[in-house]
Amino acid sequence: MATRMASTQDDLRRLNRARLLRHLHERGSARRSDLVAVSGLNRSTVGVLVSELSDAGLVVEAAGAPGQVGRPSLLVAPVQTSAVVVAFDLRVDCTIVALVGLGGHELWRREQSHKRAKYTPASAVKNIVSLTRQALDQAPNDAVWVGIGIGVPGVVDHDDGLVRQAPNLGWSDVPLGDLVRSALVEEFGEAPYLAIGNDADLGAVAEHVRGVGADHSNLIFLSGEVGIGGGVIIDGRPMLGAGGFGGEVGHMVVHPGGSACRCGARGCWETEIGSDALVRAVDRANGMETIEEVIAAAMAGEARARAAVDQAGEWLGLGLANLVNLFNPEVIVLGGHLRLLLPLVEAQVREQVSHALSAARDQVRLEIPALDADSTLIGASEIAFDRLLADPITVVTEPYHATAS
Ligand SMILES: [Zn+2]
Repeated sequence: MATRMASTQDDLRRLNRARLLRHLHERGSARRSDLVAVSGLNRSTVGVLVSELSDAGLVVEAAGAPGQVGRPSLLVAPVQTSAVVVAFDLRVDCTIVALVGLGGHELWRREQSHKRAKYTPASAVKNIVSLTRQALDQAPNDAVWVGIGIGVPGVVDHDDGLVRQAPNLGWSDVPLGDLVRSALVEEFGEAPYLAIGNDADLGAVAEHVRGVGADHSNLIFLSGEVGIGGGVIIDGRPMLGAGGFGGEVGHMVVHPGGSACRCGARGCWETEIGSDALVRAVDRANGMETIEEVIAAAMAGEARARAAVDQAGEWLGLGLANLVNLFNPEVIVLGGHLRLLLPLVEAQVREQVSHALSAARDQVRLEIPALDADSTLIGASEIAFDRLLADPITVVTEPYHATAS
């Protein structure tokens, strides 16, 4: 009985320690009194837990701004160089990698383009290992390497990192988790914690934790790339669906009989507003190869680009109206090229969204990401930090350091 009570107390202490560190990681430095208020714990418990986190090197206490009585109060701050993760945003045309420190700061970042047709699972895994090595070379001395997070533009099984379907990469049933794990063991001797998620789901996580959705519980993030992904957060929790595959709004059919989609259906939302659709609409022979070129041409008044962008604006608005009716979100965040497109097509979008039911429509705001093009990348870092944030002391006492090889 005594042992069981002790273990329950240990569990509680671990949980409370984890809650404090998560708060500091997500919200930044705070006074002890703020931590008392947000945690509901008493002052002495917070003091003990902060000391434990400080002894582990994860937080530091330093004088902050003067408090109400004029004395500088101590601020508890996460130490960004104490623990790091390597985060990946695998895209159809490029791979983005970052070394991210505790507190969510990018310490180093690199973008590498690749040829779409040659981006096989094997080449992706090779790339991930070599970029992980490069990222760790930039890690501060003695930083604990907590894990790796990877965002994939496709339907992913969170538990084992099995990519069920990534139509725009041409992948299906790729055991990415297993492949990356064994390649890491070969390179580093062991594999750290590995988490893999859908790109839009991770974008939603990042914008919810530290972006435009930080103060909202109902949010949709749209990743705009070759495809259109959707990450849906309802009541503060990711909406997963039975198999974790929910939110694939890019394959919502908006145009029956429209263009063939790589998923096998026709007239999916992404065949109308995906970046390839826009480039195709202006015709590559026009010299415009990328979505950025099409958008720049439309802004400059080039007729064909302007017409393509206007048409995409109609489809964008129509899909958004459906999302407003279905999910009653407070915020819809338009990521990727949609964030560049939105300012050009606000009139079309507003007109289409005006057809949504007024009760839901009145509550929604359309936003561009606070994290610019890095929402998915930062979301990948957040899921990689999950292990540390669940049990900080155990993770830092494990002898696995970023600078070890
Ligand atoms: Zn489709």
